[in-house]
Amino acid sequence: MNTSAASPASVARPPLKALDDALAELLACAKPLAGQETVSTFDADGRVLAQDVVSALQVPPEDNSAMDGYAVRSTELADEGVVLKVSQRIPAGSTGSTLEPGTVARIFTGAPIPEGADAVVMQEDCQPLPDREGFVRIQQLPRPGQWIRRAGEDVRRGATVLSKGERLTPAALGLAASIGMDVLQVAARPRVALFSTGDELVMPGEVAPVQMRPGAIYNSNRFFLRALLLRLGCEVSDLGIVPDQREATLAALRNASQNHDLILTSGGVSVGEEDHIKPAVQQLGSLDLWQIAMKPGKPFAYGRVGSAHFMGLPGNPVSSFLTFLLLVQPFLLRLQGVVDVAPRSIAVPAHFTLAKGDRRREFLRVRRNAAGGLELFANQSSGVLTSAVWGDGVVDNPAGQTIAHGDIVRFIAFSEWLA
Ligand code: AMP
Ligand code: MG
Repeated sequence: MNTSAASPASVARPPLKALDDALAELLACAKPLAGQETVSTFDADGRVLAQDVVSALQVPPEDNSAMDGYAVRSTELADEGVVLKVSQRIPAGSTGSTLEPGTVARIFTGAPIPEGADAVVMQEDCQPLPDREGFVRIQQLPRPGQWIRRAGEDVRRGATVLSKGERLTPAALGLAASIGMDVLQVAARPRVALFSTGDELVMPGEVAPVQMRPGAIYNSNRFFLRALLLRLGCEVSDLGIVPDQREATLAALRNASQNHDLILTSGGVSVGEEDHIKPAVQQLGSLDLWQIAMKPGKPFAYGRVGSAHFMGLPGNPVSSFLTFLLLVQPFLLRLQGVVDVAPRSIAVPAHFTLAKGDRRREFLRVRRNAAGGLELFANQSSGVLTSAVWGDGVVDNPAGQTIAHGDIVRFIAFSEWLA
């Protein structure tokens, strides 16, 4: 039987893969990297904790004053305007002694509450007496416990303040420091080899805009992919532009598979004869080429070359950008041991209409307006990078879903996503 004569028209379109299924498959392959590093807490912003951080002390260490004022025995203050002797002075960093009955202690923010005192009256509610030095008039009757920060109210001794798999933020560094951690144990940085494919690509700086030959475009993907990788704590080997040739692609892949955890490419993942990624990765390792039901996006490749993971992104800039955020970023976070890798979407009203929903799940570039609604960028083409700069996030719109003005949609903010 002759099977070679099938006409292109009879070739079925490959079925689309749901984005969630693609992500689940990728994450199943993302075994956290074995390596760990001890880094100074100063340098740990954005890194992922490889160990729980447990507190050996309580914070605050003892009850202390939340105000500059006077520490009092609240039961002794029956009437507003009572005049009492100031028996001691306790600045932050020193400790007082037991408060003598019938007296108050001058106290400052952060200073330990002396034994016997059970409230602080802020200095704005007290009046030193000019004619009686060492005495003060208490103008306000305090509630017991007023303006006292309780020992351990922030952190209890033995508490896990930060967990393994958590990505460190500036506030987390402060919290770690507050319990005395000068160094932190973090996951190794993923080593990523990055290259762009495409004979049309030219690097900015190599050819002036007015001298660009017909058909040439500047390599924009390289810039945002590199920046996105660096933000995720990766060590990036930028291997530049690889021409659309089998041998060059093989050589680049062989080189990149040494000493890298991930090889990331953009372009060349379709199945045209100018697309060399698929056969080259298959020759050296293994590769699945997926058609993902997302827009922009669609072609996406995952495979292995030697011990390195391989991911091939589509060439169209907005497709490349969004498939990175939706698939590569969660993968790289998981390599570092992050548990919660999904971006957070929130419900926001649309201040635009979408007359026809795409048959694929669509990520619409939108911008929040001052009224708390979302506006749509007019040109949603996968080549229009302006949309991703104008926009401050995307609407995650289910397949086939139309949108009317005022409909509540799911919004993912770039400010949170591009962490
Ligand atoms: P490809 O996926 O290689 O078929 O490329 C799809 C489209 O994306 C083509 O219009 C390419 O010129 C464009 N493209 C591919 N790589 C890049 C890149 N690094 N920067 C900007 N555009 C690109
Ligand atoms: Mg190409």
